[in-house]
Amino acid sequence: MKSLIVANWKMNPATLKEAIKLYEETKKASLAAKNVSVVVAPPAIFLRDLAAATRGAKVPLAAQNVHFENAGSYTGDISIPQVADAKAAYVIVGHAERRALGETNEEVGKKVAAVLEAKLTPIFCIGEKTRTPAGEHFVFVKEQLRAGLQHVSPAKIGKVIIAYEPVWAIGAAQPMSPRDMHEMSIFIRKAIVEKYGDLGMNITVLYGGSVDAASAPLMLRDGDVKGLLVGRASVDAKTFTELLIAASKK
Ligand code: PEP
Repeated sequence: MKSLIVANWKMNPATLKEAIKLYEETKKASLAAKNVSVVVAPPAIFLRDLAAATRGAKVPLAAQNVHFENAGSYTGDISIPQVADAKAAYVIVGHAERRALGETNEEVGKKVAAVLEAKLTPIFCIGEKTRTPAGEHFVFVKEQLRAGLQHVSPAKIGKVIIAYEPVWAIGAAQPMSPRDMHEMSIFIRKAIVEKYGDLGMNITVLYGGSVDAASAPLMLRDGDVKGLLVGRASVDAKTFTELLIAASKK
């Protein structure tokens, strides 16, 4: 099965011209890397143009955030119907950088449900800020899972992608070890199975946090994950191409 690699461009690049160039180069790299499928999450302002930019095969697009209401007085926000109309098929929900700005577990839960309701795919981000030897991070992650999935029915749980991104490993010097990720993957699956039964066994879990071309294949091989969420390494075409090729050879 192909690994899923999500490119989170965050608030980059500065211009549409650069965004189209990076998108085209990402597409070329994703076609060359046979064992990976790629999703690009650009700033929302570029979604519609990128969807129209390429001919032939497309690299699916994700929004980086949405509001859970379909319309209303929410200055500066973007709705799910709007991102769907701009041809995004995925939505990143609950990214650590949104949570750091005040997004709550409850809001994340509403967003996950609203994205599913619109028949888009949520990439639901979880991850603790710090780790202690006492293992409190497991309690923290379990609560994020409970709240984030509280409105998700068994019929829809299979459509949720979970991206585990420990906050301390985002924008860091190195990723978490594949061994620790493996432990966390088992924990996440167990938590989902507790609520949804065997349906939880096939849940898609991604790892995110400072992945590069060297760490990507190791994480895919030993981390018990179905893919990766990549930030900084996805906004430079050469760096991301190297990562995709390395990931494809895991
Ligand atoms: C992210 O923002 O989701 C992320 C994983 O960032 P980075 O790869 O830069 O750590």
